[in-house]
Amino acid sequence: MITGRLLQVTLTLPRPRTSEPVNGFLAVDQGVANLAVTSDGAVLPGPALSGTIDGNGHVRTLRERRHRQRRRLQKKGTPAARRVLRRLSGREHRMMTDVNHQISKYVVREAERTGRGIVLEDLQGIRSRVRAHRFQRRTLHSWAFAQMIEFTRYKAVRAGVAFMLVDPAYTSQACPECGCVAKANRPARGRFVCTRCGLAGHADHIAARNIAQQGVAGWAAVNQPHATGLPSARRDRESEPPASTSGS
Ligand SMILES: [Zn+2]
Repeated sequence: MITGRLLQVTLTLPRPRTSEPVNGFLAVDQGVANLAVTSDGAVLPGPALSGTIDGNGHVRTLRERRHRQRRRLQKKGTPAARRVLRRLSGREHRMMTDVNHQISKYVVREAERTGRGIVLEDLQGIRSRVRAHRFQRRTLHSWAFAQMIEFTRYKAVRAGVAFMLVDPAYTSQACPECGCVAKANRPARGRFVCTRCGLAGHADHIAARNIAQQGVAGWAAVNQPHATGLPSARRDRESEPPASTSGS
């Protein structure tokens, strides 16, 4: 018997059927915390809040500015500076949560509108890839990546949008047009130029396109054996991509 002042009410909504992703998958690449790029090339949640991609393909984020500010305060080391640091950390936490809500909301709405499913890189994949750069290491907040995945999963299931997680190897080095996988496809940070077919673009956008393709392949692999009469409940479950595409 609950006798507290708060009465907790749990509302169970009927789960909508998961729609078939007839137009493929929308993917999001979380290259740098607080900045996400979709396979359509949209930078989320928009230049004003998260960052911009400059002419050299470099990402300028609010997080980067915050990092410089933190370093200045850490050098000072006074009690007042430490107080400011604590306040900044709380503010940053709230800001990133807000950003994740905005990103997930946009992505689910966009997938719903265009008849697509959503595919994201799983946390393990993000960790192993993002560790590569010093710049990204200091901007990596695992909880923020995990939160973005959770928010998106939750909103997708609620909207009946297919949701998948994949652990794609080489998404940053592979060309989504011709399939060429090479380290040389990444001449500079943030930049992709295919050495075989010449496809060029922002690295995060290219990575998102690769993830989107993995989503299509993974979905087909999961659903093909049950193509006739698969109960919808099975379809909103995330699933691993087939072993052959996850590499080693
Ligand atoms: Zn190519």
